[in-house]
Amino acid sequence: KSGFVSVIGRPNVGKSTTINAIVGEKVAIISDKPQTTRNKIQAVYSDNDSQIVFIDTPGIHKPKNKLGEFMVKAANQTFNEVDLLIFMVDSSLQMGPGDSKIIENLKGIKTPKILVVNKIDTIEKEDLIKIVEKYHGKGIFDEIVPISAAKNRNVETLINVIKGYM
Ligand code: GDP
Ligand code: MG
Repeated sequence: KSGFVSVIGRPNVGKSTTINAIVGEKVAIISDKPQTTRNKIQAVYSDNDSQIVFIDTPGIHKPKNKLGEFMVKAANQTFNEVDLLIFMVDSSLQMGPGDSKIIENLKGIKTPKILVVNKIDTIEKEDLIKIVEKYHGKGIFDEIVPISAAKNRNVETLINVIKGYM
């Protein structure tokens, strides 16, 4: 199995920590050099039966000007080309206007989408249930996976979920 995954979400939700937790010692590449103008390979996970390329996609913020519009268009083009989109949120933060804007934008993308609810080590189970219900109600995510990237909780499950879309 092999494929491309784009991980998106507001700053500090834990995207880098999660990718590091997934790739771990199986890392093949971690590069900060831009490989194309619109996206870059952040890391490659590989094991006996799969290779998963994680792509960092800038420009999914609310466009404020022509450049912003261009970046959103470029990001959307990437989203339509990858095999899976992961939208990540921090479970300790409320769904903000930034999240809603991204979710609205994702409605037009046909690529499978999963929601990763990170930092579950910081919240109570009852709160997690509420978050899952709220995002489930948006009706755009194929699956919702709660994790703690920092505490390595449910990361193995996330890897298996991702493989299911490759
Ligand atoms: P990014 O901007 O989305 O790439 O976020 P980072 O991966 O840089 O993480 C931002 C901050 O959140 C860092 O201080 C991480 O240590 C912290 N963080 C990431 N994952 C978790 C988690 O599962 N639990 C907790 N408590 N903190 C986390
Ligand atoms: Mg990061």
